[in-house]
Amino acid sequence: MHDIYDAMIIGGGASGLIAAVALARGGRRVVLLEKQDRVGRKLLSTGNGRCNLTNLEAGTENYHGGRQAVRAALKAWPPKKVIAFFEGLGIPCVADEEKRVYPMSRQAASVLDALRLGCDEAGVETRTGFRVTALNPGEGGFEAVSEGGERVYARCALVCTGGLAAPKLGAGGDGYRLLEALGHTIVPRFPAIAALITPPEPVRGLKGIRAEAEIALLCANEAVRRERGEMLFADSGVSGIAAMQLAHMVNVALFAGKPCAVRLNFTPGMDAEAMLKKRAADLPKRSLEDFLNGIVPRRLGQTLVKAAGLPLNVAAGKLSDKQIDALAGALSGWTLPVTGTQGYDQAQVTGGGASLKDFDIRCMGSLRRDGLFAAGEVLDVDGDCGGFNLQWAWSSALLAAEGIEAMLELRR
Ligand SMILES: Cc1cc2nc3c(=O)[nH]c(=O)nc-3n(C[C@H](O)[C@H](O)[C@H](O)COP(=O)(O)OP(=O)(O)OC[C@H]3O[C@@H](n4cnc5c(N)ncnc54)[C@H](O)[C@@H]3O)c2cc1C
Repeated sequence: MHDIYDAMIIGGGASGLIAAVALARGGRRVVLLEKQDRVGRKLLSTGNGRCNLTNLEAGTENYHGGRQAVRAALKAWPPKKVIAFFEGLGIPCVADEEKRVYPMSRQAASVLDALRLGCDEAGVETRTGFRVTALNPGEGGFEAVSEGGERVYARCALVCTGGLAAPKLGAGGDGYRLLEALGHTIVPRFPAIAALITPPEPVRGLKGIRAEAEIALLCANEAVRRERGEMLFADSGVSGIAAMQLAHMVNVALFAGKPCAVRLNFTPGMDAEAMLKKRAADLPKRSLEDFLNGIVPRRLGQTLVKAAGLPLNVAAGKLSDKQIDALAGALSGWTLPVTGTQGYDQAQVTGGGASLKDFDIRCMGSLRRDGLFAAGEVLDVDGDCGGFNLQWAWSSALLAAEGIEAMLELRR
């Protein structure tokens, strides 16, 4: 007769670790199965190594995909309750002016250590190097089979295998396959927080340049979302948080055959034309090569002059009203076609995934298979930058842990 755990958790990332702590603290026998040689590798890279673990203002508007599930998870486990959970693990939290929450140590490693210690203290059995390749339902529970043929049995199974973003940190498609084999629908997936790709020519020579801008995303010529913040020019496209969080909408629009573009405004809230007219009157001898220097980085200024169709070797004082108008248009509305986004290698989050229609969102329990649960990025939810994705991982996992607890209690 084999050993049967109360719950097996597949995937020792953010959602798997927190669910394991919660269940084991409640006295349940929990086994955590992780394919890599250690748990929580992706967590270490979050927030540039500082772990932006939630956002005080998280609301459904910060998410795409199964928003009703997000609403339920945020109601049951709002950021303040998640923060209290972490404080109970020895992680005091601090928020910045944008309501992004970090551990007081500003170290992702301390969040991971606290979760690992929480697991150890509560008696979670962690098995690393255990890649689950099959999840077989049977009488009274599930059998997980590893790549090497090992087997683990439990009364409930929680799939926390994450998405496809950042494969170097352990992402892969196993969780989707496991759920699909048990009758779940998988919604098409795509990179959701990733740099935007533009034709190389307009941005040539701008790699590494940063600038504050308002970015409007145009889908089929209609502005569908605006973001403001620092953008970073890349080899063939635009990056930085403001640009990257448009990736979800870009991929959805391109998939639907709608052309996309970004309109960059480097003088948001200002009258660019009036500003340039005054500048030309104040600096009539300044050649266009240097004319925008100080408003934007010099090289970007030169690119904008060219985008306006003007030569670089003309003095500002010689510009006609029409030419100033054209330059103001480039400065406040430089439009670049967007042909796609970077792939999963560079992306932070996955859009799409296991459909929430197949789950009871009050407890994250499967409607297809009794005793099966899922949480985190494997599900069809993705959030904006700013702590929203980890908030979803924590809150959906804690909700699932409660669901598992209730199911085990019922079956006693
Ligand atoms: C560079 C980077 C920075 C980020 N920064 C932030 C941030 O600051 N704030 C924020 O909110 N979000 C951030 N995110 C997103 C956030 O990290 C994820 O949304 C979150 O980790 C998802 O949690 P998860 O538990 O669903 O998946 P993961 O944390 O990815 O964990 C999944 C785990 O499952 C394991 N696994 C997969 N398949 C199997 C299998 N078959 N058997 C056993 N184990 C398996 C994996 O190895 C992994 O350990 C960032 C992402 C990246 C890539």
